Amino acid sequence: MFFCIKLKKFAACAAAIFFFAAALIIITANGLEHAAVSTAADNSTERDEVFVPVIMYHSLLNDTSRAGDYVLSPEVFKSDMQYLMDNGYTTVFISELVDYVEKGTELPEKPVAVTFDDGYYNVMTYAYPFMKENGLKGVMNVVGKYTDLSTEQDEHNPAYSNLTWNEISELYQSGVFEIGNHTYDMHSMTARKGCKKIYSENDEEYRKSLYDDVAMLQGVLADKSGVTPVTFAYPFGLISDESVDTFREMGFKALLSCYEKPNYISRLDTDCLLCINRYNRPSGISTEEFMKKLLKQ
Ligand SMILES: [Zn+2]
Repeated sequence: MFFCIKLKKFAACAAAIFFFAAALIIITANGLEHAAVSTAADNSTERDEVFVPVIMYHSLLNDTSRAGDYVLSPEVFKSDMQYLMDNGYTTVFISELVDYVEKGTELPEKPVAVTFDDGYYNVMTYAYPFMKENGLKGVMNVVGKYTDLSTEQDEHNPAYSNLTWNEISELYQSGVFEIGNHTYDMHSMTARKGCKKIYSENDEEYRKSLYDDVAMLQGVLADKSGVTPVTFAYPFGLISDESVDTFREMGFKALLSCYEKPNYISRLDTDCLLCINRYNRPSGISTEEFMKKLLKQ
């Protein structure tokens, strides 16, 4: 009887120890699994939001008498690019940011975007060969009316020409340039400031004016240059809240502003593409000075 009770106690004890040990193993395994998952999640969260500095260039000219906020020497441009390469930055198209957000594709470790507004021919003269040689990418935001005029004049002079439709096609086909829409004929400061809404316009009238102008450039770019931009650059950086739905409707994925601020691009957050900030690159400051501002997070 005594032996029997002892045996029962032993069995109960052994069973308790067994269940306790099993529970401990399950808890530990779950814990390890959870830890592994959260480490992976932490890493992806870290990488999810990517810092992307964006530069805005305009005209590149050797003539120092014309140097200013929107005219830079080609040598300084090359020095900027060299600085970025030496510091491990990789140039990306804006469409690559779109793919990162929408499709989850990868971005290089340190991405930077290099944009050129207004479609100056001198960018093709001075920047394009250097960029091609060094595997750099850029975004060329063109104005339809200027391109029509340049195509008609057929002069190709770095001092004053804009790109022609054929040259835009050549830049695009080279793989060095992505092409952006910078309006067909809204690149002026008349009654309408850039492509902003005029006070006297109602929402529907504004939507139609904007749509007609921007769609006209999209159409001609498709016909004559074989390209359909997904990027729109607001003339003079004058953004308008009322325009965003129209741009979305037209298939644009990224809208470029001139706010001099850093960008943080996140996966699945398409809104972060609707106001991409850019730093204008003026003459008169060194590459180091400009980069300090541009690369500050
Ligand atoms: Zn412009």
